[in-house]
Amino acid sequence: MVSRVIPVSSFDLVIFGGTGDLARRKILPGLYRRFSAGQMPENSRIIGAARGDLDDDGYRKMVADAIKEFVPKDRQDKATIDGFIDHLSYVPIDARGDRGWKDLAKLVRKDVVQAFYFSVGPGLFGDLAERLHSFGIASEMSRIVVEKPFGRDLASAKSLNAVLAESFDESQIYRIDHYLGKETVQNLMAVRFANVLFEPLWNAQYIDHVQITVAETVSVEGRGAYYDKSGAMRDMVQNHLMQLLCLTAMEPPSMFEPDAVRDEKLKVIRALDPVPTTNIVRGQYGPDGDDLGYIDHSENPDSTTESFIAMKVDISNWRWKGTPFYLRTGKRLKARMSEIVIHFKETPHSIFEEDAGSHANVLTIRLQPDEGMDLRVTIKEPGPGGMRLVDVPLDMTFADALGPSAEDVPDAYERLIMDVIRGNQTLFMRGDEVEAAWAWTDPIIEEWQARNERPVNYEPGSSGPEDALMLLHRDGRKWGEVR
Ligand code: NAP
Repeated sequence: MVSRVIPVSSFDLVIFGGTGDLARRKILPGLYRRFSAGQMPENSRIIGAARGDLDDDGYRKMVADAIKEFVPKDRQDKATIDGFIDHLSYVPIDARGDRGWKDLAKLVRKDVVQAFYFSVGPGLFGDLAERLHSFGIASEMSRIVVEKPFGRDLASAKSLNAVLAESFDESQIYRIDHYLGKETVQNLMAVRFANVLFEPLWNAQYIDHVQITVAETVSVEGRGAYYDKSGAMRDMVQNHLMQLLCLTAMEPPSMFEPDAVRDEKLKVIRALDPVPTTNIVRGQYGPDGDDLGYIDHSENPDSTTESFIAMKVDISNWRWKGTPFYLRTGKRLKARMSEIVIHFKETPHSIFEEDAGSHANVLTIRLQPDEGMDLRVTIKEPGPGGMRLVDVPLDMTFADALGPSAEDVPDAYERLIMDVIRGNQTLFMRGDEVEAAWAWTDPIIEEWQARNERPVNYEPGSSGPEDALMLLHRDGRKWGEVR
């Protein structure tokens, strides 16, 4: 298979917070991988910027160490690492002061794509945006990349949008949700809109319900203080799960073009019904033997923050009325997995004997681990003995289906950074989308706060609280296994 990669132009990429955890773990290793795939034009440059006193060589060494730590060993190559770090330089800078800005202004070129990655806390976004302009660094051609969390409620998201809008046009702002950079998420759009097979069935008439699960095995240890102010609803549902829901539920856009796709996602968010508390289960992992509980990690003995949430969400539009979307996410669960599962309805009438067995079709879109898709179809069990039905998988794990070309699939950050350089906003959230998501989330959180109820307990290493199972049981349905 010949792969066609859309080339990128030469660029200067400034990473504010270029010495931080995200830069070291994701952004720089991702850029290294694109460099090693030959996708970084020769005269492109990456400029790290933070307050720490480093020179270019010190920064290059830090980045080489980060690559050795965070890039799989079989993807490391000394000559390639040396070639990559040649493209790096560093400017000590203070986002809140004058230090370093004139030096940065001298370094950043005006005749190549300029991208500024704000890999710092959101409290610094306004300072950075303002100084990029007042020091004459940014131009109409510049792009800025901002990380989650984008606000903690509608009011803070609006004020962040307003701060950025003072210095940059919406077409220059790239709000990252790395879930959108995953190969399978884009494949969801390909499956839906490039095949005639699924779209006619993609509605309440044929789909019984949809399950979206993002399960993590990690606890909040080490980030307890941060997480305690956030919780699963703000940290995962408002952004990642909401985006997955939108891509599953949206109408076909007229083109695969940024605003056409984002308009359709926005319509889905606006069609979400308010969720009554009876359709939500909030959980907190408790201690178990030697395992510490959420309270121990958060260091707040009275914390009512949820580390798990399961909810039933209804969409009020023609396509989805009557087909619930069940969302579930949590920390310290049994397995790390993310998947969207489409449960089709059973056939309207079975022509086979009652004891032949019947199985509804299920389409699973796996984001992790092993990105891929699996469609369960019903066939006749082979052999004599009459008509007995079994459901079997039509499984497509990308690595198996596409062979070596799937091995070099860029990870989410690599792809998204390259999309910034290409100027393609399709996989980034627009300001109005983020605000609409908070407008739906806020009343739910406000109601919890008013009630001040403790989340239910669940065992660390389990599939979540029993009550979450009940949420589906009472509708005669069952969650897929967390495995
Ligand atoms: P971090 O490890 O604390 O790094 C922060 C970076 O910002 C450091 O390089 C720090 O260097 C720099 N910085 C802090 N204050 C500064 C100032 N006044 N002027 C210039 N630079 C300054 O944080 P992080 O984990 O990398 O996260 C960065 C952002 O990404 C945050 O908004 C976070 O919520 C978001 N995020 C992170 C992850 C992740 O996996 N880490 C995932 C998703 C989103 P100096 O102290 O030397 O200045």
